Amino acid sequence: MKTGTALCLINGEWKAARSGETFSVKNPANGEVLATVPQLDRAQVEGTIAAAQAAFNGWRSYPARERARMLRSIGDKLIARREEFARLITLEQGKPLSESLGEVSYSANYLHWFSEEAVRAYGDIIPADSAAKRIFVLRQPIGVAAAITPWNFPIAMLARKLGAALAAGCTFIAKPAPETPLSALLLGELCQEAGLPAGVVNIITGDAAMIGEVIMASPIVRKVSFTGSTEVGKLLLRQSADTVKKLTLELGGNAPFIVMDDADLERAVSGAMFGKYRNAGQTCICVNRFLVHSSVAEDFTRRLVDQTRSLVVGSGLDEKTSVGPVINDAAKNKVIGLLNSAADEGVTFLLGEESRRATSRFISPCVLTGVTPAMRIWKEEIFGPVSTITTFNSDAEAISLANDTQYGLAAYLYSESLSRALNVAERLEFGMVGINDTAISAVQAPFGGVKQSGFGREGSKYGMDDYSVLQYLSVA
Ligand code: ADP
Repeated sequence: MKTGTALCLINGEWKAARSGETFSVKNPANGEVLATVPQLDRAQVEGTIAAAQAAFNGWRSYPARERARMLRSIGDKLIARREEFARLITLEQGKPLSESLGEVSYSANYLHWFSEEAVRAYGDIIPADSAAKRIFVLRQPIGVAAAITPWNFPIAMLARKLGAALAAGCTFIAKPAPETPLSALLLGELCQEAGLPAGVVNIITGDAAMIGEVIMASPIVRKVSFTGSTEVGKLLLRQSADTVKKLTLELGGNAPFIVMDDADLERAVSGAMFGKYRNAGQTCICVNRFLVHSSVAEDFTRRLVDQTRSLVVGSGLDEKTSVGPVINDAAKNKVIGLLNSAADEGVTFLLGEESRRATSRFISPCVLTGVTPAMRIWKEEIFGPVSTITTFNSDAEAISLANDTQYGLAAYLYSESLSRALNVAERLEFGMVGINDTAISAVQAPFGGVKQSGFGREGSKYGMDDYSVLQYLSVA
């Protein structure tokens, strides 16, 4: 696909909307239109579901090794075109090119990982009560699976769902975010080149609410994996009731970052910089609340301010840039709103107060102290380059502050005492805890949350479970 007009991948063919309608994809750095994509109608979405259903029996019957080979081939092709994909991600999403290159490699990792998992969908043989009986447990693909993905990792979120689905033997429909569908559609080209049969992978664009509704209402779609806002996740959960669909929900986060009094502060600040500011603070595992022991708060804060000041805000295509634009004006206004309400509620700005009056999507990183649990900025996911600092005086207080949120995705903890860190970590109500580490996302590890951050796990040896069902055969 060249920037210009992109088409949807449906049943092995590239399709425009029947009505000819399109919508524009814009570069968040300068508002330029990069391309238009189809605004499919309801009948085309239904047709896509029918195509995925028609392809299912054939695909599930492929030898696992053959499915694995194709997945590996998509991953290899992605690596071979790494620069092209990375540039497209930066153009449509805004993140620095170095981060986009990282996202492409990370996405290929998932395709490779699941190509390796595809051949290990082991079942079980269980001893029965009677010698005349056998109990076999098979792992079966659940059926047609759909993915609804966000704009913050345009192809990584797609690759980790697509990899698991295809490895399990499901056919697949993806609806990328309207802000960033171009790299997802380009990934469709690689699926075609890898020789996937028609209908196995379909990538569609159009009105999100309509596509969501058709997918959720369809008894053919047996599984939906969603990464996005808690609000939309709750809607999908309600919509899934009528067809009793299996869901994976990766929703919002409100990650605490605990700095204990025995933390290595240099390490903590270096972890903080990555955990807070990458992707301009727009990841669901980005640090939302720094909780710092009062005895080290001054030192930690000074170091964090110093390093935050050295960040370079600019276009993601500029090599010097460390923080790109936020995705759109709604995102910019949300951050400004949170900064203003925090200011009204009495926080101190150590850096970036001018961002309260930001007129563009390039938001100067901020550091705020004096943040308390009563404030909006404590409760809501910031999704911007804003550090907020709160102090505590004991491990018990740190745990209670960290857990004071409806979310439970990622948490971080810095301490030089392993046993103390483990004791605290085990009491954090979060699906993932980084101990002296903020680079927690890895293909081998189960990614996912608890509480209102959702359920289900992506990646790892558990990742195919979400796309499989157990079938038990009782043989007499
Ligand atoms: P954000 O507000 O960060 O864009 P969303 O949850 O709105 O997060 O978006 C994540 C994904 O969910 C996107 O692909 C978006 O198009 C999709 N989406 C938004 N609204 C709906 C809906 N009503 N039904 C299904 N998908 C939706």
